[in-house]
Amino acid sequence: HARPQADAALCIPLNAQDGAIGLLHLEAGDEVAKPAQAMAEQLAFALGNLKLRETLRDQSIRDALTGLHNRRYLEESLEREIAGAKRSGAQLAVFMLDADHFKGFNDQHGHEAGDEVLRALGLTLKGAVRASDLACRFGGEEFTVVLVDSDAKSAREWAGRLAADVRKLEVKHAGKSLPQFTLSMGLAMYPAHGTDRETLLQAADFALYEAKHSGRDRLAVAGERDDEVRVA
Ligand code: GH3
Ligand code: MG
Ligand code: MG
Repeated sequence: HARPQADAALCIPLNAQDGAIGLLHLEAGDEVAKPAQAMAEQLAFALGNLKLRETLRDQSIRDALTGLHNRRYLEESLEREIAGAKRSGAQLAVFMLDADHFKGFNDQHGHEAGDEVLRALGLTLKGAVRASDLACRFGGEEFTVVLVDSDAKSAREWAGRLAADVRKLEVKHAGKSLPQFTLSMGLAMYPAHGTDRETLLQAADFALYEAKHSGRDRLAVAGERDDEVRVA
């Protein structure tokens, strides 16, 4: 039995707010061309709205410079990770990281060079964590990393590898290689140093402060003396 003969094949672009997002392909007679056109317009509008919502949501949880998640996302997600760790009995490693003497770096090389460094650091951090971990720009030249299901020993090893990666980073700006920079890091463990988000972030921040005051370019761990914690 033959298919009813189509008079025409209709290919209607689905034009959304910011350009075509698809193609509606119909085979039908002339009499449906008009309603099909109207349907395509509505469909395109609805799809465009969905895409726009997704983009806005993405922008609201990501930092534009580095592409990392932002502080808002960190706060939501850390809450969730703590709940998960509580259930499963896992540990979490919470790091606060801060670029050393970054004001001086900007003063010497310009704000755009500084931005380039932050962008490179963002990429390095993204590459240094697993998909299930969190790597966020907390603000300015400060970053937060949460390693899910990690003990203190592997967290220290991770920090050592990150410090080595940062030392190897070659960032170029305006055709010139920028000098190396370093990070100071503070580490707090769930549940050893806190069992809620605020306490953990504060403990990591306090450890970061210790790392800064004992000479920078190092890791300090919450609840430990600073002389034990130099990153190799
Ligand atoms: P410390 O080793 O104690 O952390 O010294 P610091 O100079 O890094 O610390 P301070 O908090 O005094 O200054 C932070 C600097 O980071 C100042 C600011 O210009 C720079 N900074 C913050 N956000 C950005 C940014 O988005 N781009 C650039 N280029 N610089 C930034
Ligand atoms: Mg800072
Ligand atoms: Mg700094």
